[in-house]
Amino acid sequence: MANPTLKLPVIQNWSCHNCGGCCREHLIEITEEEKRRIEQQGWQVSDGISMERPVIQKIAHGRYRLAHQDDGACVFLDEQGLCRIHAKFGEPAKPLACRVYPYAYHPAGNRLAVSLRFSCPSVVQNLGQPVMEQAGTLQNLGSQVVAEKKTETAAPLIHRDSQHGPQQTEWSDFHRFLEAMDAAFADDTVHFAVRLMRVLSWMDLVAQSQFQTIRGAKLDDFLELVSNASVKAQPDNELPVHRPSRMGRVMFRLMTAQFARHDTEAAVRAGLGHRFGLLTAALKFTTGLGTIPVLNGSASVAKAFGSTDDGDSTSRQTARFAAVEREFFCRQPEIDELLSRYFRVKIQGIHFCGPAHYNTTLIDGFHSLALVYPVVMWWSRVRAVRNGRSMVTLTDVQAALATVDHNFGYSPALGNYSALHRVSLLAKLKQITALVGWYSR
Ligand code: SF4
Repeated sequence: MANPTLKLPVIQNWSCHNCGGCCREHLIEITEEEKRRIEQQGWQVSDGISMERPVIQKIAHGRYRLAHQDDGACVFLDEQGLCRIHAKFGEPAKPLACRVYPYAYHPAGNRLAVSLRFSCPSVVQNLGQPVMEQAGTLQNLGSQVVAEKKTETAAPLIHRDSQHGPQQTEWSDFHRFLEAMDAAFADDTVHFAVRLMRVLSWMDLVAQSQFQTIRGAKLDDFLELVSNASVKAQPDNELPVHRPSRMGRVMFRLMTAQFARHDTEAAVRAGLGHRFGLLTAALKFTTGLGTIPVLNGSASVAKAFGSTDDGDSTSRQTARFAAVEREFFCRQPEIDELLSRYFRVKIQGIHFCGPAHYNTTLIDGFHSLALVYPVVMWWSRVRAVRNGRSMVTLTDVQAALATVDHNFGYSPALGNYSALHRVSLLAKLKQITALVGWYSR
């Protein structure tokens, strides 16, 4: 389909503030054509590039990526945090992956849904030009990202029904689901966790339904019905708080570690030592006893949000697993705004299911997205404890969300069978709802 209509996240602003974070945190795979182009650019020591190793590394047969400097930064990142290819040859000369970040494009019938990665500190903080004003540039980039035939992929499944088989809709009906979900998160008259509980409860009803005959206007009626039922089931300000089960807590802690895992080239180069550290940390997260291990953090998150409120890392305290389970003051309007914007951008941009999220169904993908909330609140609490506070701040949540979204939908560890099975099991045992309630208090 030629020139699909862009579906832009209307609530988001973004401009690059040249923090250099993406050039440190991401390994950039390039095409054969980009490899040829960079080789023809003729980079020399006089350009500030160390020629001790090639600027392009082979990953596997026919697959290449940009090399990194000893400190982990992209080989083309200069001392001012700017890209040398951009400076010398202009923005179009860079690999497409670098030009597109932090945007992500997802074909959706006659639309092209655009989402953003909250691993970029400017996205988390909503800094810069409204995305709506960047439509021309985004259309241009989108046409390069998505080959025409790929816009004709089928809509993700709604769910897999064990009796009636996979539940699939046309794209037009799939968009109806997205619009209903988006409307539920847009309701800022209630606390964010209430909105999330409501959508989780109407997903339970969707999971029990078949959609062979519920289409078009009938689907609108169905979605209105389940939405009204969820509002009745979950009143405005009465969040049910139940301590998650022991099994739920173990599965959840393992997930928090996977979401915060940060494999940069520098970490990978550390080899066995790095793997041993991960194994030791995994054991601690399984038992949930003693002190929470300090994981290899993101340099851009530390630069944008600091490791402590006063920026003094020497004042950092240790955090014990038990300390994170107590009540915190974390229901603040600015935190609700951030979380609601995050969920709406991911839903509008179809960045939580289908090809953008390990080919999961709408329901399974939404369960994974829902878990981002307790995971982010858990890491925000850890940061608060390490700073000697019993109150979670907006900066804590921004730092946690930037860390977690780096992996959401991208980390192989979160997309393998056991990780996805864990999410399904948590949903089946009603532990996602319990975790949302527990970490919202
Ligand atoms: S992380 Fe975001 S703000 Fe920083 S350089 Fe990359 S795109 Fe720009």
